[in-house]
Amino acid sequence: MRFEDIDLHRTVEHVLAGGELDRETARALLACPDERLDDLLAAVMRVREASFGRRVKLCVLSNAQSGICSEDCHYCSQSRISRADIPVYRLKTTDTLLREAEAALQSGANRYCMVCSMRGPAVRDVALLAETCEQVSRRFPGLELCLSLGLMSREQASELKSAGAGWINHNLNTSRRFYPSICTTHTWDDRVATIENVRRAGLKTCCGGIIGMGETDDDVLDLAYATRRLAVDSLPINFLSPIGKTPLENARWLTPERCLKAVCVFRLLNPQTEVRAAGGRELNLGARQPDLFKAVNSIFVNGYLTTPGWDYERTLRLIEGAGFEPEPQSA
Ligand code: SF4
Repeated sequence: MRFEDIDLHRTVEHVLAGGELDRETARALLACPDERLDDLLAAVMRVREASFGRRVKLCVLSNAQSGICSEDCHYCSQSRISRADIPVYRLKTTDTLLREAEAALQSGANRYCMVCSMRGPAVRDVALLAETCEQVSRRFPGLELCLSLGLMSREQASELKSAGAGWINHNLNTSRRFYPSICTTHTWDDRVATIENVRRAGLKTCCGGIIGMGETDDDVLDLAYATRRLAVDSLPINFLSPIGKTPLENARWLTPERCLKAVCVFRLLNPQTEVRAAGGRELNLGARQPDLFKAVNSIFVNGYLTTPGWDYERTLRLIEGAGFEPEPQSA
């Protein structure tokens, strides 16, 4: 099937009626000619608006433990094989994380996500983070609280839920087929098991991936269908920001158009899921960032784990300039 053979109006109607995009159509959409991308974005905008109107949710990250990970994820500056010059420290204190949560709220965030560089949390990590969740949720009840702690058991997830966490992030990152090319210290199936543990504990799941690591179109489609099958609640899509002295430091495969086509396919396969433009959007989308909002309904502000990003004021101008509006804070 070619892109030209697709009736975009009918495709959108099918998706809005609850139908699943078939794989051949999804493949043809991902291969959309650049000169037809605006048509694709206009069609996808109808799906985005149906669930989220013109609202954009803002999320702020805290790199709660940095640079001491035992894993070898090739894209990551904090992995054991990275030689990137990044801050290295153990888990921040509850007081520090609490102050950062307050700062996140003041900078317009709807969600605050504490991310730890680790294979999975130790007992003391879960205890400290549970204490932090209790305090953050008591002080700032409207702030959505998310944690990203690597591989987790159901019991660990339950402990954090009881303490006030609402979401756990754990990305699949790419397809099951391509996963061994980007990480050898754990498997794609390990990651799926964590998502299932999180769901069984009653927490919402945040699970997406990274494009631009050398994957094929079929890998992108596999990931997009996997997120649909897992019915994830939140879906961050990162656009690889190659970091010096990591195995992917020379990866330069992305174009703004490629990024936009991918987010369109993720949106059509996950029409009611929160889809987020995550790391690398400033670097890889450049002047086409406003088009992202036609597919995604959420972005990060104030940078990423070890790379900088746009602050709230600049991001607000981007959102409003594109004809969208930030989601009101409830805290
Ligand atoms: S598990 Fe997380 S922190 Fe560790 S190397 Fe992989 S992505 Fe980086």
